[in-house]
Amino acid sequence: MLVALAGTLLAAPALAQRPRTRRPAPPPPPAAATRRPAAVIPTPRSVLGFEPGDDRKLVEWPVLVRYFEALAKASDRVDYRELGKTTLGVPFIALVISSPQNLRRLDYYRQVNAGLADPRSFRTSRAAREALQNGKTIVLITSSVHSTEVGGHLSPVALAYRLATDTGATTRAILDNVILWLVPSLNPDGVTIVAKWYNRTIGTTAEGTSPPELYHHYTGHDNNRDWYAFTQVETQLTVDSLYNVWHPQIVHDIHQMGSYGARLFLPPYLDPVEPNVDPLLIDGVNALGTAMAWELDGQGKTGISINSTYDAWTPARAYQHYHGGVRILSETASADLATPIDVPFDRLQARERGYNPRERSWNFTNPWRGGRWSLRDIVSYQTEGAYARRARSAVGANGRMPT
Ligand SMILES: [Zn+2]
Repeated sequence: MLVALAGTLLAAPALAQRPRTRRPAPPPPPAAATRRPAAVIPTPRSVLGFEPGDDRKLVEWPVLVRYFEALAKASDRVDYRELGKTTLGVPFIALVISSPQNLRRLDYYRQVNAGLADPRSFRTSRAAREALQNGKTIVLITSSVHSTEVGGHLSPVALAYRLATDTGATTRAILDNVILWLVPSLNPDGVTIVAKWYNRTIGTTAEGTSPPELYHHYTGHDNNRDWYAFTQVETQLTVDSLYNVWHPQIVHDIHQMGSYGARLFLPPYLDPVEPNVDPLLIDGVNALGTAMAWELDGQGKTGISINSTYDAWTPARAYQHYHGGVRILSETASADLATPIDVPFDRLQARERGYNPRERSWNFTNPWRGGRWSLRDIVSYQTEGAYARRARSAVGANGRMPT
């Protein structure tokens, strides 16, 4: 149903309402426009040895890097970039995913978006309108800043593979209208630290526990409080290479939370909301988070809460709030790392903020019934959420800012 809904939204209003102004021709593609011929796209299993989400399966960072390199080599929808090295010296990477035509003109779209990010650069209102017509929606997805939230290691694999291979109308619209920057881990060092510990302890009483060392060498879990001090190289690379160059209009940061409340949290956030953030950005957060929840509900996913967590107050966590971007935080319920757990319905905690996970309410419309909860569920909620986010971005594109 929702695929049809997304398709309708994509096709009808955005195109029908497009103003009939003459559009200046975009620059010709670069001379060396012969991109790689279509090759067989490697499946995640062919490199990882398992499907993302399989029970008790985690891999260290170099294996994930190998997959993304192979994917970019085979797909003309995916480019691979190494942005620098992490604290412990491994590649800090990003993928850029879009249609082959858009990827050929990346620099052109970067310049258009730079103008939109600083409208003082437009001499006339017509120039501003043309930039809106010609631009694409720039989306940044960041994952796995917290390394024990292991769905975040694998959901980017599933998402990138889907966008590289799917030929459906929704995916094509996403690729045509969105330039997606995907940072598969904001803390690659921690991916390896957690995977090593997990794989070493499988079958022991320590299986599924957190490693006995910080998963970020200097800051541990507080690596996600660095978005105004920029003390860590991973933060610096993200800000200097992506935020300040591409000015994403939408940022989706993938996280996990505790096991005994909702299955998935999406914005709107609870108050307090930082009063210095532009009201339009808060409106965007509220609208997009609710739309994602709606779409996932329609797929039959249960246990989705909105307006049940605060996360729009401190600038330590939200660079984009002050730089023209809508920030979507998603938090999926955790298992014991990659080990499934059993959550009986009566163990769901009735003392969550703003809702009771055992009862329906306006912001928790379809409670989860309890039972087995596994990495497969986590990867499914995260991947579908990220895909719904992209589809919604495509709706607002076609030369407009996102809806
Ligand atoms: Zn987290």
